[in-house]
Amino acid sequence: MSQKAPAPADRSAYGRDRIAEEAARLAGETVFTLHRDGWAFMEGPLTERLGLGSGICTLDIDDWHDRQHPDDMPRCNAALEAISPGNPMAVEYRIRDVNDDYVWIFSRGGVVEADDDGSWIRISGVVSDISRRKNLESKLFANEALVREALVSGKGGAWSLDLATMTGQVTGFATAIEGLGFGTDPITLDEWRAIIHPDDRKQSIENFQRMLAGEVAEVEYRMRRKDGEWIWVRNTGRVVETTADNEPQRMAGLLTNITERKSLEQRVEQVNFQLAEALKAADLAAWRYDLTRHTSTIRGALGERIGIDQANPEIDGTKWVSLVHPEDKGDVIRQVLKMAEGELDHFESIYRVKGDDGTWHWIRSTGRVVEYATDGTPKIAAGVLKDETRQIELENALAAERDRYRSTYAATPAMLHTIDREGRIVNVSDYWLTQMGYSREEVIGQVASSFLVDEDRERARLKIQPEFWRDGIIEDVPYRFRTKSGAVVDILLSAVTEKNADGEPVLAHAMLFDVTERNALHQALVEEKNRFEAIYRATPAMMHTIDPDGRIIQVSDYWLKMMGYERHEVVGRKSIEFLDPESRLRAESKNLPELFRSGQNHDLQYRFITKGGQPIDVLLNSFLERDSEGQPKASYAVITDISALRRAYDGLKRSNRELDRFAAVASHDLQEPLRKVAAFASLMRRRYSDQLDEEGRRCLEFMNDGAQRLQLLIDDLLSYSRLGNKPLRTETFDLSEAVQDAMKRLDVQIEESGARIEIESAGLVEADRPVLTQMLQNLISNGVKYRGVSPPVVRIAMHETSEGWCISVSDNGIGFEPRFAEKIFAPFQRLHSREEYPGTGIGLSIVQQGIERHGGRVEVQSTPGKGSTFVLYLPRRIETPAALTA
Ligand code: ADP
Repeated sequence: MSQKAPAPADRSAYGRDRIAEEAARLAGETVFTLHRDGWAFMEGPLTERLGLGSGICTLDIDDWHDRQHPDDMPRCNAALEAISPGNPMAVEYRIRDVNDDYVWIFSRGGVVEADDDGSWIRISGVVSDISRRKNLESKLFANEALVREALVSGKGGAWSLDLATMTGQVTGFATAIEGLGFGTDPITLDEWRAIIHPDDRKQSIENFQRMLAGEVAEVEYRMRRKDGEWIWVRNTGRVVETTADNEPQRMAGLLTNITERKSLEQRVEQVNFQLAEALKAADLAAWRYDLTRHTSTIRGALGERIGIDQANPEIDGTKWVSLVHPEDKGDVIRQVLKMAEGELDHFESIYRVKGDDGTWHWIRSTGRVVEYATDGTPKIAAGVLKDETRQIELENALAAERDRYRSTYAATPAMLHTIDREGRIVNVSDYWLTQMGYSREEVIGQVASSFLVDEDRERARLKIQPEFWRDGIIEDVPYRFRTKSGAVVDILLSAVTEKNADGEPVLAHAMLFDVTERNALHQALVEEKNRFEAIYRATPAMMHTIDPDGRIIQVSDYWLKMMGYERHEVVGRKSIEFLDPESRLRAESKNLPELFRSGQNHDLQYRFITKGGQPIDVLLNSFLERDSEGQPKASYAVITDISALRRAYDGLKRSNRELDRFAAVASHDLQEPLRKVAAFASLMRRRYSDQLDEEGRRCLEFMNDGAQRLQLLIDDLLSYSRLGNKPLRTETFDLSEAVQDAMKRLDVQIEESGARIEIESAGLVEADRPVLTQMLQNLISNGVKYRGVSPPVVRIAMHETSEGWCISVSDNGIGFEPRFAEKIFAPFQRLHSREEYPGTGIGLSIVQQGIERHGGRVEVQSTPGKGSTFVLYLPRRIETPAALTA
């Protein structure tokens, strides 16, 4: 019917069976008229449902066919073909409604107009919605299948009940087999009901009412067996016979023993209950996710907390995802989709879900695909949710703590490292890195012992490390580490292990102390001590050290050599054992107590006795070393052998005596004949000079002059020798007094020359007065004698220093070349001729001798033509070795 004429504008062209239509409308049915040109009209309750509109609707029969269920097409076509006048059609088929759902309809119709050969022109009829009936039928069909199954399996029984007599009959298990005890005899409805569990009776009666009303009704209840046991049965039944006036006549049904299923169900329920309890206790939730429908069921207290209604715990997948934190959504969706696509068979994620209190809960969800369709596509995934908010918060706090610890660890000014069981460094402090010269990257992951020097590495590997992992601690183990630059660092290493929950040591934290410097200091100290000892022993000086008991603990080689002992003969003995009895007495009674009291002895004169019995005269100086508490620790003595000095002194004394004798000879014995020569020469000049010729008189002059000079020389020599031999007697006096004394002795010279002597400054001095006066006299005399053209001026000045006194004598005379500054102090050394300036060259020698005997010195500064300045340095204390004066 493709080339179809358009629908007629006026449906009256098709004619209508008004009476039939009216009747159908009254019955609430839908009526139709179909013309063989392919157009139809329809009116009634179904038109709207089918999307045709309301009122009288026009429809194209081709469209109608398109909307029919394909399975029903053959039946419909057959029915249409078979229709003829007097032969109506009745067909049931499915047709798509406006929602694309199939509606079961029942179409009945008959030919209302036909052509001569009897083929139809117009069909009219009624269409009814039979969906409800069809549903019931399909259920019934299912039940019938159950009946068959029940009967076959022996678990079912059939029953029928005559509603007029209310008696019935049962077959199958309900008879003897299952022990309900009905037998084959008819039973009454009351007898039936009597063995139904009282709690279930109400349901049974309701079910009966439903069957009476025409439904296929089904109920499950308990019945008591003969032996008193309850069994669960399912009863399905319906009215199967009615009277002509449609009164129910007979019911029939099926009784199935579902005890097994029920107990299973109960067990499932119990298990579910236990599961629910367990979930509650563990604060878990169980989830089930339908991977095809994308719905999710979440059961458990946790589910409730995150807003899943536990009365109806199924929610839409998209709804669930909407509860997840935006940052975590991606991961959840990805995993779900992958499971749905079969790419992933498990689910594992930690994500945040908004709780009903508005806070975010950290949820750990694990699960897997638990059901697959027959074609292998995943259907259902299931798993558990766990609220890990607290753990994660704790973990975060812990991580923060760890971070803090890590930064402290890194920044602490100590050498720290942490190793794992393989000895690999997993953490290291910055200080470690700077001390060792490495970067963090060069160290992390390296075996700690690889930073040790070779021998230490072996020692660590073979001995120390195994013991450490066993004992859990090591303290102050000396190691030598090698820095990046190759330097060796001495380390004291202490470490402790960190154990896991099983008590297994998994990490070790080590602390390293750099003792390189300490060791170097120690080494230096040892070297210093050795050096000291070497020097001590080898120094060509007699030295010994005694302990507070006076026993020798150390002695120099020179001591041993001088005393003729071996070291072992000396060490441990008392030092006083080596003294002569007199020295020993003095040492014991006076000097040693003094040493321990004052801390030193100064220039003690002792006499040691060598192993061979020879005496050695010594000067002993010692000082005491005390410990940190001030207690005597040792006394170091340096001993000077003055035997040779003493010998020299004795020799000097001897020669001095001889010199004295010479002086006496010179003064008396030599002067006497000299005076005679001079006296007679003078006599001869007076008496015989006119008898002598010119030559003779000149010779006499020479003789006279020579005798006088010799006289002067002897006088000067005598005073030089006398001054040198007289012992010094120091006293304190005013310098100006000594200057006055000297001036008095020089008054003729001063007066003749018109010299001016000025004392610029003076004061008390400590010296041998006659000696100092003589020295001043000589210096002043020279200052006047070696004058230039201008009248001589001699200035004397004195100032005191910490060491003593400084006395200067300056003049404005002729001066001399500075290079002669030393020479002029030697006896008989002169710079000028006797003719120019008379003198013997002894005066300055006496000055030098005098100042040196005072322990001082003399210096001179001079410029020719300008004058000279002589300076005497006179020390405060005049030291003369006691040994030499004794
Ligand atoms: P003398 O004066 O008897 O020659 P001295 O020992 O006193 O002997 O002096 C040694 C020499 O030093 C003198 O001969 C003189 O040449 C020089 N001399 C000493 N004092 C002075 C002085 N004040 N000025 C210049 N020359 C001096």
